[in-house]
Amino acid sequence: MKIHEYQARDLLGKAGIPVPPATVVDNPEAAGHAFKANGAPLQVVKAQVFAGGRGKAGFVKLVKTADEAVAAAKFMLNNKMVSVQTGPEGIEVNKILIAAAVDIAKEYYVSITLDRNRGTPIVIASAEGGVEIEEVAKKNPDAIIKEPLHPHLGLLPFAGLKVARKIGFTGKQASTVAKLLVNLSKFYMNSDCSMAEINPLVVTKQGEVLAIDAKVQFDDNAVFRHAEIAALKDDSETDILEVRAQKANLNYIKLDGSIACLVNGAGLAMATMDVIKLFGGSPANFLDVGGGVTSDGAKEAFRIILSDPKVKGILVNIFGGIAKCDLIAQALIDAGKEIGFKVPLVVRLEGTNVKEARVLLDNAKTELPTLQTAVDLNDAAKKVVAATN
Ligand code: ADP
Ligand code: MG
Repeated sequence: MKIHEYQARDLLGKAGIPVPPATVVDNPEAAGHAFKANGAPLQVVKAQVFAGGRGKAGFVKLVKTADEAVAAAKFMLNNKMVSVQTGPEGIEVNKILIAAAVDIAKEYYVSITLDRNRGTPIVIASAEGGVEIEEVAKKNPDAIIKEPLHPHLGLLPFAGLKVARKIGFTGKQASTVAKLLVNLSKFYMNSDCSMAEINPLVVTKQGEVLAIDAKVQFDDNAVFRHAEIAALKDDSETDILEVRAQKANLNYIKLDGSIACLVNGAGLAMATMDVIKLFGGSPANFLDVGGGVTSDGAKEAFRIILSDPKVKGILVNIFGGIAKCDLIAQALIDAGKEIGFKVPLVVRLEGTNVKEARVLLDNAKTELPTLQTAVDLNDAAKKVVAATN
């Protein structure tokens, strides 16, 4: 689960990381008021969206007057932001952050994320932080250092100091940064984060160390343990069909193709998408209804699939283990009666209660004229591609 910068700043501030104060607004007039209330001569206006690359996209702007703050907020709220992380269609901005600008002497990068190979979180840090960090990672990977956390104890103070020194801090500043990293690691572990990134961490010309941008993500499977974090969830940037699927406990990801898939099991879903591609089609979604799918879950899955106007055909590929084929077949028939399948529907079922399922489907063919059955996955993919073209 992702949260916005303004929410992450709050949480990091409470975790003992120095974050300059800021105000969040949702309209240009309020941006002007915030500028005046803040009082600093130079301030920064920042779009609050999940995607990064805002600086380069023109969605982080320095402003010197309340009028400039209003104009910058107006621009950001009225234009979609297109950055390296958004894709060409861009994303809408609904909230704006106003903060005092700081006098930056140098920008650093620090983050904690899970290293799957090591099986433990690691600190990633660089003395070359800021908006070019992706370029640094590509062209000068040696400028990025990594330090594993102890899987249970987190980042120990000596390891924090080692990282701070490696990225060039000395003396008192090194201890300050080490403490900040230890606090970031405590926050990461205690909140079940999957990522906590500060880019840039700045040193001001006055020698202060401050976090001026923050990106935090939480492990979806652990959010239930933190009511205060769950409350920060913002679905406004998630595809509405994906939000609906989450509520129905379905693993659904919308894709660009025209053949919808309804499958049980993530591995089978991947294989199904591959075979659709093999026969010249392209999948409209990934949809894993899971092992213990219910009739209501399957019906909602069909409703979600059919709400996507790009869908020109559906392939149902179910291997009945815990899920019984006849339950899926009946859900499919019920959904067909309720919603009506106007697009071709090809069904391949195998496993528990498949005989009963085939009888149900055969009897339903007059009611569901676009329904075809298939003997195996290749046959099913060929049929759905042919029917869709
Ligand atoms: P993004 O990572 O999405 O591009 P950032 O918040 O990191 O957005 O801002 C991009 C750049 O803008 C920073 O690297 C920094 O140089 C500058 N910047 C951001 N906030 C401030 C601030 N409060 N004061 C001065 N400069 C800032
Ligand atoms: Mg940044």
